[in-house]
Amino acid sequence: MVVHRLETSGCAASGGQLKKADQMNETPTTQERYAIAIRSSSLRVQATYQGDADYLIAAGWSKSRFGAALMRLHSEWDSAERRGCQIPRQATRRQIAQLACEIATQQKAGKVTEAHSAAARQRLEEGFVAELKETMRALRTLPEVRLHMELRSTLDGKPEVEQLCCAVLLHWLKPSCPICNGRKFQLKPWTDELSGNVCGGCAGTGQVSPPGGDEGRALLSYLDDCVNIARQSIRARIFCNA
Ligand SMILES: [Zn+2]
Repeated sequence: MVVHRLETSGCAASGGQLKKADQMNETPTTQERYAIAIRSSSLRVQATYQGDADYLIAAGWSKSRFGAALMRLHSEWDSAERRGCQIPRQATRRQIAQLACEIATQQKAGKVTEAHSAAARQRLEEGFVAELKETMRALRTLPEVRLHMELRSTLDGKPEVEQLCCAVLLHWLKPSCPICNGRKFQLKPWTDELSGNVCGGCAGTGQVSPPGGDEGRALLSYLDDCVNIARQSIRARIFCNA
């Protein structure tokens, strides 16, 4: 699976600062960017740019602070979803094959070739990236939350996991199956009633598998752990002040 990373890292050409949540290049890595940040002499924090200071702040977040940011991110997602925002999903093989077939038909080709499949893959990929950028715009806390996750992976000696962070965060926000919308069963034809047939997309679990296998599951459990710690700390504060 291709995992996209909407880059929050800076680059030397832009003076170490790039516009948040709007960069698509793959270099430099978070590890390189963090290494620049710890040697930086300019630690200004700006609202629209991710600079050296943001890296140091995100790296120093406690579990409780990160959990609180995750709770904020989830409430941003809840309002974005009410406005019709969707979590972008990568195209399935079936969708690619379907579009390749349509392209071949439009071009009046006798059969579907590798070129049609490549064109379909590219078109769906571009659509996915555009949707991802739209979602990123709706979730203002996402860049800093993702930055903390990426830095944590890097500092834990797992830079390869860094590329999974965005996909795992999006899954954490909405793990439900996009086909049955979490209902687990198929609807009866032409009605809103559930049938007795389980959803083929999720085999009746109502959820999709997290991206990245064991690494993805480990990241998800870290997110849940941090949210629990943040909740406990909020409860403890309320209790102390009561
Ligand atoms: Zn389903």
